[in-house]
Amino acid sequence: MSKKHKPADKIQDLQFFGEFGGVNPSITDSSTFTYLEGKTMEEVFEGEKEGCYLYSRHINPSNQYLGKAIAEMENYESAIVTSSGMAAISSVIMQICSSGDNIISSDTVYGGTYAFLKNFLPKFNIKSSFFSVSDFKGIEKAIDSKTKLIYCESMSNPLLDVANIGRLSDIAKKHNIKLVVDNTFCPLIFTPKNYGADVVIHSLTKFINGSSDVVGGVVCSDLSFIRELIDVNSGSSMLLGPTMDSFRSSSVLKNLRTLHIRMKKHSHNAMFLAENLKSIEGLSVCYPGLSDHKDHVFMKKVMNSDFGFGGLLSIDVGDRVKANSLMEIMQDDNIGYLAVSLGFYKTLFTAPGSSTSSEMPEESQNLIGISPGMIRMSVGLDNDIERTFHKIKKCISRI
Ligand SMILES: *Cc1c(COP(=O)(O)O)cnc(C)c1O
Repeated sequence: MSKKHKPADKIQDLQFFGEFGGVNPSITDSSTFTYLEGKTMEEVFEGEKEGCYLYSRHINPSNQYLGKAIAEMENYESAIVTSSGMAAISSVIMQICSSGDNIISSDTVYGGTYAFLKNFLPKFNIKSSFFSVSDFKGIEKAIDSKTKLIYCESMSNPLLDVANIGRLSDIAKKHNIKLVVDNTFCPLIFTPKNYGADVVIHSLTKFINGSSDVVGGVVCSDLSFIRELIDVNSGSSMLLGPTMDSFRSSSVLKNLRTLHIRMKKHSHNAMFLAENLKSIEGLSVCYPGLSDHKDHVFMKKVMNSDFGFGGLLSIDVGDRVKANSLMEIMQDDNIGYLAVSLGFYKTLFTAPGSSTSSEMPEESQNLIGISPGMIRMSVGLDNDIERTFHKIKKCISRI
């Protein structure tokens, strides 16, 4: 890294004005755009002319503002927003891979991603093999002439392992394949590009939007890959059509401006809960901010330290019955909601084994360490987290 990239400053420094000098950019509420000359339109279709708006499935100014803002945050030249995180993931993978190709993936990816790789892509003769992200030898050995990409998450779900993007990128570069990183759990905290990731994906649905009112995604990369994705004749994001609505992108852009404050608070609250829950007898706590987490030291080295260790933590209460009972009691006590997803102002909790990781067979779950009594919490923005801790402690004493 030559000069220090400060992701939150990059968002702060953006200036997007509205049509009439408004301090917010205007929302482009048009699916299509007029041309003064037929010839110009011809040139745009032929790919000879760039920078013209044509049709909103291709490029929409509102979506471009959001894409630009997140590209700045992730230190890439360009980005496109999509209608969901899965749309971002599937578009990227289908752009890079053709029939006969294969993918090397982390074995602890988001359930939907796992199902896409394992169940859906084989229909197109694209196969995936799964490895622990720290099994560098296994990963390198599995690469053959048909391998097109290595796929991982910067922080895994729900065990919160931290991927060594630098090492994975070295392997990818050596074999001339792409490293694609899902950074959904850790916006601002990690900048995978700075360690060599070729493509960074987010589900905007989670922390970046933070209001649990929008489903969205983004792909960040160099200009040439983003152009490939939106190519009128061959781009997956143009041809599969995972377009975000411009009203939605403008609302995500507004929420992005407070992401730095929210991430700090999520991390602060998660750290407080992790440290205090640890002292409860019979409860095991997994949080990368704790010194007993296996990736704690490594994370400290690679994180943007202003934003803490993230808003996710998991606890293990022993078995599934207890886990369900605790979640129900916590919901009754209004500590948060028994709901999937993350990054909301309220704490959200789920039992990964029977929900977000249920796409994975139970034996694979056991193998990677997802236990039946595990509860994943996306810690909210509670003003008084000590009060919340005492409430949780009382709930635990009742199971
Ligand atoms: C939620 C999530 C996704 C999928 O995003 P959607 O917006 O729900 O399509 C992908 N990766 C991770 C890590 C997620 O948490």
